[in-house]
Amino acid sequence: MSSSPSPSSSPPPPPPPPKKVRFLVAFDFDHTLIDENTDVAVQELGGSGPLPDSLKAQAKKKVWTDFMQAVFDHHHERKVTEDDYLRRLDAIALTDGMEECVRGIREEGGEEIIISDSNSVFIARILERTGLSGHFRRVFTNPAEFRPDGRLSISYFHQNDDCQLSGRNLCKGRVLEDYLRERSRQGVDFSFVGYAGDGRNDLCPMLRLGEADLAFPKAGDRYSINAALRHAEEEHGRKLRAERCDWKDGRNILEKIREKLAGQRRRQQQQQPQKQQQEKQQHTKKHSSHSHNSQ
Ligand SMILES: [Mg+2]
Repeated sequence: MSSSPSPSSSPPPPPPPPKKVRFLVAFDFDHTLIDENTDVAVQELGGSGPLPDSLKAQAKKKVWTDFMQAVFDHHHERKVTEDDYLRRLDAIALTDGMEECVRGIREEGGEEIIISDSNSVFIARILERTGLSGHFRRVFTNPAEFRPDGRLSISYFHQNDDCQLSGRNLCKGRVLEDYLRERSRQGVDFSFVGYAGDGRNDLCPMLRLGEADLAFPKAGDRYSINAALRHAEEEHGRKLRAERCDWKDGRNILEKIREKLAGQRRRQQQQQPQKQQQEKQQHTKKHSSHSHNSQ
């Protein structure tokens, strides 16, 4: 006979501690994580002065990425160097409260990514300088590099022919959905997704968010996401399904996420006693049937 205690004397196992809720926050870069637009900031580099009118006119006619390549070619002709770009990028500040926001989300167990129409050279430089590189699991942006002759070269992130809300080189909504699918295949499903942005190309990912998610359009009429959201709703009846959380600085975003997490933890704790009760009942039932059968 075994000397181990009979099932009736062993209490049900204690409930596991509440799990940290897994969630994802995707950030736009220009005017969201940082307080300027990188592509605009570098335009007058090397004392080259304002762009020639003929070049400026291309901004509206071309895909933005092609326009930026034309700007970089113009810089190259004017002998603008890699150091000139890097010095200008080093003068760009993070948006107020964003460092706290990015670090805070990580402390809360959140996963963070960047989806940006800037480029890999500009973003890597700024993340490195601000010590935030390690906080972002992935950066989705147009690949760029300095060629051996010193020319900055940029290419499309991908080819977008389907989404009318996005540019030819990048549909941020598709990037976000592909990322969620990829993580799901790896066994990671998020309880909610936050998306923060200020521009017209942030509309597509925000419209794709679901009811449990948080959309963070940057507050203020100068930010085109607001007109884009209005237009989508008034002209096309396309409303945000996610909760809309306008923000002015990074702390607003972090506060909202903490509020959401607190709500989720409260619900989890409320469900805990019910779960324990059910487990206890199952345990008793199992034991009584065992004693009954052994008689
Ligand atoms: Mg932006």
